[in-house]
Amino acid sequence: MSIKLECPVCGYKEIEGNSCPNCDTDLTLIQRLSQLSEVETSTPTKIQAWQFAVIGFVFLIGLGIGTISSFLFIQPQSINATINIPNPVIVVPTPSTPAVLNTPLKAIQPATYTVKSGDNLSIITEKLCGQGASWQLMVQANPQLKGRENEIEKGEVFKVPNCKEAG
Ligand SMILES: [Zn+2]
Repeated sequence: MSIKLECPVCGYKEIEGNSCPNCDTDLTLIQRLSQLSEVETSTPTKIQAWQFAVIGFVFLIGLGIGTISSFLFIQPQSINATINIPNPVIVVPTPSTPAVLNTPLKAIQPATYTVKSGDNLSIITEKLCGQGASWQLMVQANPQLKGRENEIEKGEVFKVPNCKEAG
């Protein structure tokens, strides 16, 4: 008694052999299960349900083969790495201290300039504020310089002027 199968892969119907003539899928297992169901029940609706189950079964086999092959693929690496498979180490990112705390705050103390050998107010102002800056900026920021603008000494510490103030 021949059972006509439906290919679970391509949907080809009325298959009488053990393989799909359309896509060459091996239908031996489906054939057996269909024969089994044929024996157990003769109602067409039950056969449809069985065919449905067979399709699911074949699908699960496919999944199993995929799982096994991936297992076989991974396993040699595990064996090479270690005999005792270690528990996976879950790395929990530790909350780092906020970067703000590590960054020194600027402008807590006013910037200063220490007079070097050969400096005069013009040179210092141009060093601090750029070429062409008026030396009077230094006097504005350092009122103690009034009256002795040309008598600064090496090692003196002056405030850095606000370069945007008018000269
Ligand atoms: Zn097929």
